[in-house]
Amino acid sequence: MNGDDQPRDPRAMQLVLELLQNGITDEKVVKVMESLPRDLFVPQTFQKSAYENLALPIGYHQTISQPHVVALMTQSLELTDRSKVLEIGTGSGYQAAVLSPLCRRLYTIERHKGLLVEAEKRFASLRLHNITTKFGDGSKGWVEQAPFDRIIVTAAAIDIPPVLVDQLSIGGIMVVPVGDDQHDQRLVKVVRTENGSEISDLGWVRFVPFVQGEVSDH
Ligand code: SAH
Repeated sequence: MNGDDQPRDPRAMQLVLELLQNGITDEKVVKVMESLPRDLFVPQTFQKSAYENLALPIGYHQTISQPHVVALMTQSLELTDRSKVLEIGTGSGYQAAVLSPLCRRLYTIERHKGLLVEAEKRFASLRLHNITTKFGDGSKGWVEQAPFDRIIVTAAAIDIPPVLVDQLSIGGIMVVPVGDDQHDQRLVKVVRTENGSEISDLGWVRFVPFVQGEVSDH
């Protein structure tokens, strides 16, 4: 990743300016996104749009999330360098690469083997060594590694998944898109408390569906 003395890609600088003008306030998140080359996560066909504030196809009918949504979800997690984080839906690995420098350890699960293999190569080339990946169905969470301080789901669930709330530590935060129709999803923040959870609404989003089971062909 870029050190402070290295020139930033002007397209990335333009993109973060747009994020700052649209309600993203966490400087640490903005700094990471400014220095992360999003073009590495985008297929050849869409290189021209790599730094536009758009979700883009990554194959397997999946998408790399819109930068604004990546920034919003990341800042809503209120990460610290002590946070142990679970991500469901590795996809291209872009969201994971934004989380990685902002937390202690990131666990990420993907149900498409082909996407996971590519994402793992990107993590290695960017030297993101605090990421542990798993091929499988994230709807079960990651029992062996639970509890997590933070959980981020990057595919839309029908409802807040109780299995994942159970894997949050007390005081832990989860962000998850909820809704069964692509045009009617809300981003929800769940804070686990001693005797339940507190839920708040972060606005409209559009994600691919959260699907059960894994797919190994690629
Ligand atoms: N975070 C990704 C976004 C990818 S889109 C990025 O930054 O590129 C959502 C991803 O969630 C897809 O790759 C999809 O295959 C995955 N997914 C959907 N349901 C899943 C499940 N039950 N377990 C694991 N991954 C899942």
